[in-house]
Amino acid sequence: MAEPIIEVENLEKRYGNFEAIRGLSFTIYQGEIFGLLGPNGAGKSTTLEIIETLREKTSGTVQVCGYDLDANTAAIKKLIGVQLQSSGYYPGLNLTQLLNLFAGLYNTTVDPMEILAMVNLEEKAKAKVKELSGGQRQRFSIATTLVNRPKVIFLDEPTTGLDPQARRSLWELIRTIRAAGTTVVITTHYMDEAEYLCDRIAIMDQGKLIALDTPDTLIDQLLEKGFERKKDVKAATLEDVFISLTGHGLESDH
Ligand code: ADP
Ligand code: MG
Repeated sequence: MAEPIIEVENLEKRYGNFEAIRGLSFTIYQGEIFGLLGPNGAGKSTTLEIIETLREKTSGTVQVCGYDLDANTAAIKKLIGVQLQSSGYYPGLNLTQLLNLFAGLYNTTVDPMEILAMVNLEEKAKAKVKELSGGQRQRFSIATTLVNRPKVIFLDEPTTGLDPQARRSLWELIRTIRAAGTTVVITTHYMDEAEYLCDRIAIMDQGKLIALDTPDTLIDQLLEKGFERKKDVKAATLEDVFISLTGHGLESDH
């Protein structure tokens, strides 16, 4: 097995009297695409934001790349890639200028065209964020996580609200980023996405971990309990129909 890159132990987070995270422990390994799943309110975003150093925890320990979250916040910030809220994009700047600005915040320089090529947005180098489609905006948002050449990036519901082609385009991008050696931690409500992308999945509910394994093993465990689907599944889905009818590939116009 690869080296651990994130180790969370007994994490707890209270908002006032409300316990949002209740004794969460898990390990993420280098090179994984790790999925954090769970219903709305389960505590996924809280967990990610604590690891990202954006939110205070109540108790427990978190280590990122061997650094303790409490003792080495600054070191961790340099090693991780975080998606900015879209309000963080200065509206007057184009994509090239924004990437240069973000690189500056990390005290580094980047080749904006190289990063834009990776996310298939070279043609939009001089465009503003507001001129991008939903899928393009998400790809740009992922591009901004890469400017400091992070060891691990965090993507909180990156495909929510995107059309099927744009989602698939993002899946390929996430795989490319992992292939280049970056660990990816992602949350999603799309189970097909989790099954396709994730090496391992943690399922949370009400601030607790209720399952953690590969998608394959989780499915096998359910089948071993005697689970059967109520209805016979057709060999294609409505999504297959949609992709087949509108599937002009995964180009940058999504
Ligand atoms: P998820 O991302 O899984 O939907 P969150 O981490 O956003 O869940 O939220 C977990 C729980 O914590 C929810 O019940 C939410 O209402 C609560 N919560 C999140 N942020 C705050 C906050 N700043 N103040 C109070 N409660 C919060
Ligand atoms: Mg959330």
